[in-house]
Amino acid sequence: MDGHYDIGIIGGGMAGLSAATALATTAQRIIVLDKGRGPGGRMAARRVEIGGEQVSFDHGAQYFTARDPAFRETVAAWEAAGVAARWPAAGDDAWVGTPGMNACVKHMAANLDVRWNVRTERLCRDGALWRIEAGGEVFVAGTVLVAVPAEQAAVLLAEAAPDFAARAASIASAPCWAVMAAFAVPLPLADIFRSDTGPVSWAARNSAKPGRSGAETWVIHAGPARSRELIDLPKDEVAGILLADFFAATGASPTAPVHLDAHRWLYAQPEARKGKGPLFDAGLQLGIAGDWLHSPRVEGAWLSGRMLAQAVLQERLASTS
Ligand SMILES: Cc1cc2nc3c(=O)[nH]c(=O)nc-3n(C[C@H](O)[C@H](O)[C@H](O)COP(=O)(O)OP(=O)(O)OC[C@H]3O[C@@H](n4cnc5c(N)ncnc54)[C@H](O)[C@@H]3O)c2cc1C
Repeated sequence: MDGHYDIGIIGGGMAGLSAATALATTAQRIIVLDKGRGPGGRMAARRVEIGGEQVSFDHGAQYFTARDPAFRETVAAWEAAGVAARWPAAGDDAWVGTPGMNACVKHMAANLDVRWNVRTERLCRDGALWRIEAGGEVFVAGTVLVAVPAEQAAVLLAEAAPDFAARAASIASAPCWAVMAAFAVPLPLADIFRSDTGPVSWAARNSAKPGRSGAETWVIHAGPARSRELIDLPKDEVAGILLADFFAATGASPTAPVHLDAHRWLYAQPEARKGKGPLFDAGLQLGIAGDWLHSPRVEGAWLSGRMLAQAVLQERLASTS
């Protein structure tokens, strides 16, 4: 029946799609709802036209590691599918999505029923089922998995699962202002700048990542302290301030950009980690996953989603035996 699912997953970032991919092997009816306009979550890529040419900026996660054996296997499959490649400039174990950071999430979503632009507003019990009110529609599911940043999970779960909501509310994420800049000429800098102390924590020549082409593009991230200082300023003002910070930090001569924009990530990276692993309440048929339940990285999000899927499958097996 339309609108009725075995499993409804809220959040189609790396964690939600990892859970969905693992569960899809069991022929259950699964739907993923995501408020974003397209695939990526915090592994986002922003496409813009510069001088008649399409250019893409990775303004969220910059690269990811693959250390866990199961994740390595998945990343090897992504590499074979042409949606991930090594980026040696960032380290021996650094990978990026190709041609943009969101390519891996897009690849995963292609085999699943994912609805973009659908924000879940409310979750509530309806007898033994879940009623998901999202994007003006109602979806009904036997099991609900929530894979959104902690602060958003705390709000979404407040009514339906106060214990999970309290756990989510105990996590604080650091914000990050990201600047996307393009230049008419290459800047005389190495591809990557990192700092643990200055206002700019990271800057990278986006156009030097594998699979990218076109204009000289840079992504600049402000560190948590600088991001908090600038948190409520208009993005155009922030872009100018952080570009000046970038030139000051790197020592490059200030150069006028041909494109300049900024994006504010309110919940970029969870600061606190209270115990590893996702949570699944078999009685409620409700689970939570996300980087904040494992480690604040792409790999942590993937592992968290996969662990939640395993918990759901184990519970299904136990209840039928
Ligand atoms: C600026 C920045 C830099 C980073 N750098 C790195 C890095 O270099 N290396 C690394 O490994 N990691 C990095 N990370 C962290 C990495 O991006 C995350 O750990 C990972 O992508 C989290 O995946 P997730 O699925 O848990 O969450 P998300 O990617 O946030 O996915 C959650 C999804 O839920 C959706 N959603 C939220 N609320 C709702 C709702 N109510 N209804 C429907 N959908 C909803 C969102 O649209 C989103 O798509 C960075 C993150 C940022 C922001």
